[in-house]
Amino acid sequence: MPVRDPHDPRLVDSFGRVASDLRVSLTDRCNLRCSYCMPAEGLDWLAKPDVLSDDEIVRLMRIAVEQLGVTEVRFTGGEPLIRPGIVGIVEATAALRPRPQVSLTTNGIGLARIAPALATAGLDRVNVSLDTLDRERFHQITRRDRLPDVLAGMAAAAAAGLTPVKVNAVLLRGINDHDALPLLDFCLAHGYELRIIEQMPLDAQHSWDRAVMMTAEEILAQLRTGHTLSPDPVARGASPAETWLVDGGPARVGVIGSVTRAFCGSCDRTRLTADGQIRNCLFAREESDLRAALRTGATDEELAGRWRLAMWGKLPGHGINDPSFLQPARPMSAIGG
Ligand code: SAM
Ligand code: SF4
Repeated sequence: MPVRDPHDPRLVDSFGRVASDLRVSLTDRCNLRCSYCMPAEGLDWLAKPDVLSDDEIVRLMRIAVEQLGVTEVRFTGGEPLIRPGIVGIVEATAALRPRPQVSLTTNGIGLARIAPALATAGLDRVNVSLDTLDRERFHQITRRDRLPDVLAGMAAAAAAGLTPVKVNAVLLRGINDHDALPLLDFCLAHGYELRIIEQMPLDAQHSWDRAVMMTAEEILAQLRTGHTLSPDPVARGASPAETWLVDGGPARVGVIGSVTRAFCGSCDRTRLTADGQIRNCLFAREESDLRAALRTGATDEELAGRWRLAMWGKLPGHGINDPSFLQPARPMSAIGG
């Protein structure tokens, strides 16, 4: 059994991985209802007092950056743009030293209005989720007729310099399973970078079915009907996306084969939920409660120590492909995707 080196300040786990990329969920609430994420009626949202305050979040990020070696912070949710203090949180994050990379994953609603303020506050770039360019299908998948807002949000992000704008898409068989190529052509035309993600068993309704999931293999085959894809010479590192040069480059496209091409061995993520729990994996079934410690007077050193301990116990893989796999209790929207 390996033993943690007490002199290593970083977020290492017992398999030797080091987490330096922090995903912070700012809220579990959302203004869309994507069918692969949550039910039409929404979920039982976290009670307001249970959600970390802006100051509590910033304190934990400062500890992560100054004491634990975190170099990258990505805000997510739920929908992070509906958090009222988002601009101030971004500003405080960008002021940390050493300055982390600061990015945001959003559904794009409201981005057209807030992109300039986010850029001024120090946000480096955004990932915008978009599963189809067809307005009817967008409405069907997200249960809201908001496609024009998302497109306007992407354009505003690019204009504000939040680049490269990356576009995240999930393909659902029988719904938008032929949208890979139109999405790629749209991204090529606008200078955005497309990432297609295999659907994961993280929806609140537990409706994920491996047998109907669109696989990375199928997605690539579809993309290749319209373009030549060649291996990206840039090393993948800890990125979950396998990337390809499109028609010789420089444009790229990525496929995130979370299920069929798992990348757990090089994972460098650590996660903070909106209610102050550390998760060492999207699929973790255990969490470590920093909020209680934070609210009962723990010092920065004590909080850092708890965080290190939480990461040490990270499992080698997500286990989706094991017959004994159990979905985590929290759905994606409450973890922070
Ligand atoms: N609301 C923001 C958004 O949609 O970008 C941020 C949170 S959302 C949970 C983050 C990402 O997770 C989105 O790109 C979304 O498409 C993806 N996602 C949600 N549920 C998923 C699932 N079951 N499988 C794969 N990706 C999923
Ligand atoms: Fe909301 Fe994002 Fe989940 Fe869609 S994927 S319901 S936009 S949290």
